[in-house]
Amino acid sequence: MPIQLLPPRLANQIAAGEVVERPASVVKELVENSLDAGANRIELDIEKGGHKRIKLRDNGSGIAKHELELALSRHATSKISTLDDLEQILSLGFRGEALASISAVSRLTLTSKPAAQEQAWQACCEGRDMAVQVQPAAHPDGTTIDVMDIFYNTPARRKFLRTEKTEYQHIEEVIKRIALSRPDVTFVLRHNGKVTKRFAGSNDLAVRVGQVCGQKFVQQAIHTQCDYASIKLEAWLGDARQLRSSNDCQYSFVNGRGMRDKLILHALRQAYDSVLGSAEQPAFVVYLTIDPREVDVNVHPAKHEVRFQQGRLVHDFICKTVCDALSESSDFAVDHDIQ
Ligand code: ADP
Ligand code: MG
Repeated sequence: MPIQLLPPRLANQIAAGEVVERPASVVKELVENSLDAGANRIELDIEKGGHKRIKLRDNGSGIAKHELELALSRHATSKISTLDDLEQILSLGFRGEALASISAVSRLTLTSKPAAQEQAWQACCEGRDMAVQVQPAAHPDGTTIDVMDIFYNTPARRKFLRTEKTEYQHIEEVIKRIALSRPDVTFVLRHNGKVTKRFAGSNDLAVRVGQVCGQKFVQQAIHTQCDYASIKLEAWLGDARQLRSSNDCQYSFVNGRGMRDKLILHALRQAYDSVLGSAEQPAFVVYLTIDPREVDVNVHPAKHEVRFQQGRLVHDFICKTVCDALSESSDFAVDHDIQ
């Protein structure tokens, strides 16, 4: 076969392999876009665990009519324009790949109205060349993205979808994680027409931790805060009374991004080793804030991991802060036992 350029849709379908693993990854990308657009209210309607439909509506800044087509193109982003921007990234997105990837493996329509634009417009893209059609629509300020029939045109990927229930659980988990990172934002999640989660926005992080992890968890957990140089940690640490059950409550965040970063998890595990058996899984919600120049988020396509410039220091800071908090509280418990 001669060398030839891949048609845009096929190129995007290949790229989608990295970004769109399952319905929950679509939800994550769409919600992150809404947050980057300054939304403080995000509603999701899921049908059949996301197999059938993932629909998001936000009240963010919207996308102007003349940018709708660009928003659906690969490597098109409003969030960075220089390498310098990439080195101190504050937005959740920056790859300019999500909408192009999602629309290559589903039937996507994008409807949006910036406040300054009188009329809303709707875009969808079709065919091998991903030609975008734009037409007028009725919509309040903000954006709606409707993703139907995920993987309908990539049967090999569709086979990997799990049951509706399992896919829905992954979606719920994504929403819980993001909700913990943004207590000020209201999230409403519906499944097959019924509201399953509603987190009203407030400025109190403890309220959000309670909404997501349960009142019992916030009441019993050890709350700690510590600063060192440019690093800050705030955490709710479950003790042996709240061992993690199969489906909840190990959350860590770096500068507002949910992470499953090995270094952070290792530091926490090491700190917990003094109070828990090695097979016991602690529940925790941990927020790390660090100068964005000291952390590289451009390591993992789904951005689950980061690279710290001073990894050892960050590790030891987390480990010591958590260890101190856990041991102070066990001293407290011992004091009480003695009295
Ligand atoms: P990225 O988030 O990496 O920039 P995406 O493909 O996710 O790439 O989105 C492309 C662009 O579309 C974004 O840079 C943004 O300008 C715009 N966009 C996407 N979703 C929204 C939204 N909900 N509200 C406003 N603008 C959006
Ligand atoms: Mg994005």
